[in-house]
Amino acid sequence: MLEALREELRLTALEMMKTGLAHDGEGNVSVRDWETGYIVVTPSGIPYEQRRTQDMVVMDVDGNVVWGERKPSWETPMHTYIFKHNPKVGAVMHTHSYYAMLMSIAGVDLPPTTMNIAATFGGPVPCCPYVRTGSAEAGRVALEMMGETGKAVLLGNHGTLAIGPDLPTVLRISKTVEEGAKLHYQAACMGVQPRPLPPDEVKWLYDLIQSFNEKAKAEEKAKVAARSHL
Ligand SMILES: [Zn+2]
Repeated sequence: MLEALREELRLTALEMMKTGLAHDGEGNVSVRDWETGYIVVTPSGIPYEQRRTQDMVVMDVDGNVVWGERKPSWETPMHTYIFKHNPKVGAVMHTHSYYAMLMSIAGVDLPPTTMNIAATFGGPVPCCPYVRTGSAEAGRVALEMMGETGKAVLLGNHGTLAIGPDLPTVLRISKTVEEGAKLHYQAACMGVQPRPLPPDEVKWLYDLIQSFNEKAKAEEKAKVAARSHL
């Protein structure tokens, strides 16, 4: 069942590990199949390199396993809460990446100090209060802190959570948070308070990238329509 999606999830999780966003078996990823409504989630307790396509677990949005013999990630309730309460979300990624983890321990928001953070989030990446790991409550608090248009949060004392329409997007968002946190931390090590971009520049950058994305989507749609008329 959903073999292609399970393989895409396995490869995304492997990339998460290879790019330093997750270590050992830590971190987890999930993706929604738009046709069936099922969620595919990474398994619990298997190192990234040893996972096979058949180790990915298919479940319904309430967390009931419908395919697979492995135990789904311990943090599945956080994922399913998000899929259930935000119908636009197609993928969820949770990492324990080092610098984002540092900021989540400090309990501070990641401000838009880099152009990448500003362009991606249009403001700070908020830091949630600590919520017990493995709970649906962690998903509820994350969604509340993100607001309508949010894409990521720092989970209090626990790393990152990114949401998006698909797996490549949540991987890119998670990398952006980690890179921003690393630069922010290293700037702070210079003994100064890192300086966020001015709010009007943050908005300008965010709107600019949104318009590029909209244009790219429209061009892709036009290409698909043109191909279907051939
Ligand atoms: Zn975790």
